[in-house]
Amino acid sequence: MPEHDLIVIGAGPGGYVAAIRAAQLGLNTACVEKESRLGGTCLRVGCIPSKALLESSERFHEAKHQLADHGIHLGSVSLDLPKMLARKDGVVEQLTGGIQQLFKKHGITRYAGHGRLDGPGRVVVDGPDGKTAISAPHIILATGSTVATLPGIEMDWDRIGGSTEALNYPEVPEHLVVIGAGVIGLELGSVWQRLGARVTVLEYMNRILPGMDSRLAKRAYATFRKQGLHFQLGARVTGARRRGEQCTVEIDGADPITCDRVLVAVGRRPYTDDLGLDTVDIAVDARGRIPTDKSFRAAEGIYAIGDVIAGPMLAHKAEDEGMACVEQIVTGYGHVNYQTIPSVVYTFPEIAWVGPTEDELKEQGIAYRSGSFPFAANGRAKAAGHTEGLVKILADAETDRVLGVHMMGAHVSELIAEVATSIEFGATSEDIARCCHAHPTLSEAVREAALDVDNRAIHR
Ligand code: FAD
Ligand code: NAD
Repeated sequence: MPEHDLIVIGAGPGGYVAAIRAAQLGLNTACVEKESRLGGTCLRVGCIPSKALLESSERFHEAKHQLADHGIHLGSVSLDLPKMLARKDGVVEQLTGGIQQLFKKHGITRYAGHGRLDGPGRVVVDGPDGKTAISAPHIILATGSTVATLPGIEMDWDRIGGSTEALNYPEVPEHLVVIGAGVIGLELGSVWQRLGARVTVLEYMNRILPGMDSRLAKRAYATFRKQGLHFQLGARVTGARRRGEQCTVEIDGADPITCDRVLVAVGRRPYTDDLGLDTVDIAVDARGRIPTDKSFRAAEGIYAIGDVIAGPMLAHKAEDEGMACVEQIVTGYGHVNYQTIPSVVYTFPEIAWVGPTEDELKEQGIAYRSGSFPFAANGRAKAAGHTEGLVKILADAETDRVLGVHMMGAHVSELIAEVATSIEFGATSEDIARCCHAHPTLSEAVREAALDVDNRAIHR
């Protein structure tokens, strides 16, 4: 039986990063992955293909509706959807191939097939050539998550499907109904709306993007509606079914909606199917997650990271846990600061935040001061024609330490790194305000918001 120092089950951002870090630290490392391509949900059917389509659809929309404002006339602009989808597939191909190369470079043994725990220290891989038993004193479970569905929704994984289907519609839907105004619903709803579909988003709550700053969520809601997305808030979907090429979506207390495609985006569930958890006495919690301690230990010699454990289902959170878990195993140290994990919604404008919202600070009774700055008063944003949105900084009323930052605007996915680093280093709003920021850049809005905490923004 092949013996390793460490076996990782799952090659998503959690698992492949853990495997690389382990190899860097000198462990004889194996990684088991059931899909033919490495990279997990994120690279194959998540972060990367969705961002490729967001980028392409934004260019299409810009060419059609916005370039004329810059004095650029293109004549007629048309969509070649097969080419757009092929480009997206090409990006995925390159990046998943890149992980394969990294595995080779670091001497990581890859086992192709479904991995199942078979008691402590043993994994049986069910692959194309039959079953292989392998062993290691340490096993990391990084099996990720899969789409969650609702009772009453008859998924056919074609016209009524999840995000994977919505990354591959062969034609622009006439009417797409999105169930859930969370991250996936808004990102992929935006893609198809920009490409010409009528998009109706049904959301159970009375707001979009539960969890983000409520004031910014209100502004984002108004912006998305102006862009042409239709919303029904407070809409509890009770069923959906397909008849031929048409689908019907039923809503509690409201008229049913007929459409040609349905995207179910009501969350994801941890994936532990046929993982053999019972063979090592691990029981999942009420939400299907593998419980772990602070060192990611789920049982003696068994660890778990990423979407399959508690916390936000984000690729960078999974990556950080992968590194920290391996460092814990090898050195006894390694940690993840959950206070500084940024969240980003890649719509236009983008939305990004790190740390608590104002509502959460109020709930916790933490006194804070707030400063904000609109992109409408930022020179670079004006030059680009992207003046929508603002930066808001929340700082502790007594110590001035930055607690949370919330942004909406073009490229705020990039601006959030500065403030996440600031919070990690325990910076105050005064620290950010005293740092020179290049002019003209969008980052000046961050500095101005920091100055505004002390009511001394210059350009407003
Ligand atoms: P996964 O990426 O799910 O990887 C788990 C891997 O384990 C899979 O490859 C699976 O095949 C394999 N596996 C499972 N069980 C077994 C087994 N028994 N044997 C062998 N292999 C197994 N997050 C962001 O941070 N930013 C984004 O922009 C973003 N966009 C997203 C867009 C979409 C449409 C979706 C669906 C998700 C998005 N996410 C995004 C979330 C992100 O993809 C996940 O948080 C991330 O992939 C979790 O990483 P992971 O390693 O825990 O699990
Ligand atoms: P989500 O949790 O973000 O949103 C689900 C939405 O569905 C919520 O607003 C919820 O209120 C609503 N909902 C639930 N039941 C409903 C019902 N019966 N009727 C109507 N609405 C209902 O989940 P998601 O958008 O599916 O995304 C899944 C995960 O993937 C998230 O945890 C997210 O972190 C991750 N993801 C991240 C990114 C990113 O970082 N940019 C992008 C995509 C996905």
